[in-house]
Amino acid sequence: MKKLTVALVGNPNSGKTTIFNALTGSRQKVGNYPGVTVEKKEGFFVKDGRRVEIVDLPGTYSLSAYSVEELVTRNYILDNKPDLVIDVVDASNLERNLFLAVQLIEMRVPLVLVFNMVDIAKNRGYHFDIEALSNLLDSRIVETVGSKGEGVDELVSVILDSENCSNSLAKINYGNEIEKELAKIDSLLDHEHELLKHYNRRWLCVKLLENDKQIISEIKSKELLEALSSSQQRLRSIYNDDAEILIADRRYGFISGACEETVKSSVESRHEMSDKIDKIVTMPVVGLLIFAVVMFVVFWLTFTLGSYPMAWIEKAIDSLSRLIENHWPDSVSLELKSLIIDGILGGVGGVIVFLPNILLLFLGIAYLEDTGYMARAAFIMDRIMHKIGLHGKSFIPMLIGFGCSVPAIMSTRILENRRNRLTTIMIIPLMSCGAKLTVYTLFIPAFFAVQYRAVVMFSLYVIGIVLAIICARLLRATVFKGETTPFVMELPPYRMPTAKGLLIHMWENGWQYLQKAGTVILLISIVLWAATRYPRPNDEEMSKFKQNSAAAQAFELERSISGRVGRAIEPVIKPLGFDWKIGTALIGSVAAKEVFVSQLGIVFSLEETKGDNESLRQTLRDNYDKLTAFCIMLFTLISAPCFATVAVTWKETKSIKWALFQFVGLTILAYILTLATYQIGSLFIG
Ligand code: GDP
Ligand code: MG
Repeated sequence: MKKLTVALVGNPNSGKTTIFNALTGSRQKVGNYPGVTVEKKEGFFVKDGRRVEIVDLPGTYSLSAYSVEELVTRNYILDNKPDLVIDVVDASNLERNLFLAVQLIEMRVPLVLVFNMVDIAKNRGYHFDIEALSNLLDSRIVETVGSKGEGVDELVSVILDSENCSNSLAKINYGNEIEKELAKIDSLLDHEHELLKHYNRRWLCVKLLENDKQIISEIKSKELLEALSSSQQRLRSIYNDDAEILIADRRYGFISGACEETVKSSVESRHEMSDKIDKIVTMPVVGLLIFAVVMFVVFWLTFTLGSYPMAWIEKAIDSLSRLIENHWPDSVSLELKSLIIDGILGGVGGVIVFLPNILLLFLGIAYLEDTGYMARAAFIMDRIMHKIGLHGKSFIPMLIGFGCSVPAIMSTRILENRRNRLTTIMIIPLMSCGAKLTVYTLFIPAFFAVQYRAVVMFSLYVIGIVLAIICARLLRATVFKGETTPFVMELPPYRMPTAKGLLIHMWENGWQYLQKAGTVILLISIVLWAATRYPRPNDEEMSKFKQNSAAAQAFELERSISGRVGRAIEPVIKPLGFDWKIGTALIGSVAAKEVFVSQLGIVFSLEETKGDNESLRQTLRDNYDKLTAFCIMLFTLISAPCFATVAVTWKETKSIKWALFQFVGLTILAYILTLATYQIGSLFIG
C-alpha cells in the first residue's frame, strides 16, 4: 500500500491535536522523542488505497533553535522530510500564527495551511479572501472548524492530492541591507556541500544571518563564520538591532502586508498607531499627494541644496586647473598639460561635481527605506507602474532620471527583481536629464517664438516619457520576460533610522561612485580628450590662424579624430538633416550631453561666450531651420546615453552586454525616430 507521511505543526492551542484526532480517530499511539521529554503522537488513516501516517508535532510559535519544542519540530521536518507538512493556523489570531507559516514557506517544504477556528474568527468580525491570500503565500489553504469536524473532509482530499502540491515559492524580501548581507553569505556557501544537501539554500542563508546556533555549529568554513559576524555587526551598526530581530520585523512586515490586502476586519488591531499612518499614506489620492510632497523634498534636498557644494567643487577644480596652467614649467610637455587639465581634470571633475547630489540623494532614499515609508510608496505607485510591467519602486529611479541618469541607475538597487531592475535601467536615459536641458535651452529660444517655447520643451519631456513606457512594455514582453509574482505590500513597522545607519548608506554609495569616476570614467575621458585633440595639424597649417585663436581651435577640431569621424558619418546623418558639424558635436556629446553645446561653439569657431549663447544662437539660425533644430533635440533626447551612464550601467548590471545594448539600442531608436520626423516634417515644411 502506498504510504504518505504527514507532519502536523502549529502554534500551541491552534487546534492541532483536535485536527489530528479528527483525522486519525482512535488509531493513535503516544511515545516520546528520543532524549527529550516531549510527547510524540502518531496516528494514521487509510483512504483510497493509501495509508496516511500523521505525526502531531509539538506546538511552536517559531522555528528558531531556542526551545526543545522548536528544535524537535524543526528537526523532524528537516530530517524525516515528510511528504506533506500541515500548519494548523488559528485564524482568529492570524498575523501571529502566520509567523510560523512564513518560516515553513521559506523552508520550501510541501505545505498546506489549515485555517482552523474560522468560527471564532468570523464571530470576531474577520473576513478572509482565501483565494487572494493563497496566491500571495503561494500555498493551499483549507478552512476548518476542528471542534465540529468542519472542513476535515476537504483536508483529507487535499492530503491525498499532496503529490500535486508544489512547494510555495513566495519570497520574503528582507530589504536592501539584509538582502545584501544574505547575498554575501550565499556567495560563500558553495563549498558547504553537506549543508546544501540538507537545507534549502536561501533558508540556510537567513538562518545563518539569524545566528541560529544549531546551523552555525554545522559550519566548518572559517571564512564563512567571519563573514557572518561581520554581516551581523554591520546590520547592528546600521539599525541598532540584532539581525534576528530585523529579520523577524521583515517577516511580520510581509505578513501584515499580505493580511492588509486580504483580511477585512471590524476589529481594532494591535499596532494602532502604525495602522493609522498606513491608512492615510496608502489612500489612493491622498497617498499620492503625500508621496509627491515627500519626493519633492528629496529632490529639493538633492538638487537645490546640493548645488552649493557642487559650486564649491566646480570652483576648486577650476582653481586647480588655473593653478596648473599658470605654474606649468616651460620645459615640460604641453601635451601633458592639456591631458591633465582638459582630459583628466575636465573629465573626472565633471563627475566628481555630482558627488554632493549623489550623497544627498542616497541619504534621502536611505531615510525613506529605513523608516519603512518606501514600502508604502512602492505600493501606491504600483498600480500605475504595474501597467507598464514595472514595480512600484521603479518610479523613483525614473524620477531621479530627470536630474541625472547616473544616480538614477544606481538607485535601481532598491529593486529586488533583476528583470525589473534591468528594464528600469534601460529606459532611464529616456528621461530628459539636466545635461539635455542645456541643449534644449540653446535651441528652443534660437528657433521658436516665445509662445511656443514651453510647448516644445514640454513635448520633449513627454516624448521621453512615452518612449520609456513603450520601451518598458516591449522589454518586459521580450528580453526581460518573466512572471510577475503577486505583489505583497510589505508593511514593516515604522522605525526611526539611526544617524549612523544613514551615514553608512551615504558613504557606501558615495564611495562606489568615486571609484567609478576614478576608473572607467577617467579612462573614457582620456580617450575622448585624445579624439578631439589628435592628430594635430602641423605648425605651418596653424600659422594661418595667428590672430584668430577661435578659428585655430575650430581647425584643430576639424582635423582631429572626432572631426574626421563627424565628416565620415555625414552621409549617414544627412537624412536626419544633420551636417558634419553637428556630427562632430554629437560625438563630443557622448562624453556628456552638455559638451554638445561647447563643441558646436568650437566648430563654428566662435569666441567663448560664457553664460550667453546669443552669438551661437544667431549662427545656428543662419545655418539651420526649425525642423533640423527640433530633430537635433529629439536625437539628443533619445540617442546613446553619455559615457558616465554607460559606465554606471556596466557596473550596476555587472555586464558590458547590457551597457552596449542600451547604448546601441537607444542610438538606433533615436536614428529611426529622428529620420522619420525629419523626412515626414520635410514633406510639410519643405
Ligand atoms: P493544540 O494545542 O494545537 O493541540 O490545540 P487543541 O487541539 O488541544 O485545541 C485547543 C482548544 O481549542 C480545544 O479546547 C479545542 O476544543 C478548541 N478548538 C479546536 N479547534 C477549534 C475550532 O475550530 N473552533 C473552536 N471554537 N474551538 C476549537
Ligand atoms: Mg496538542
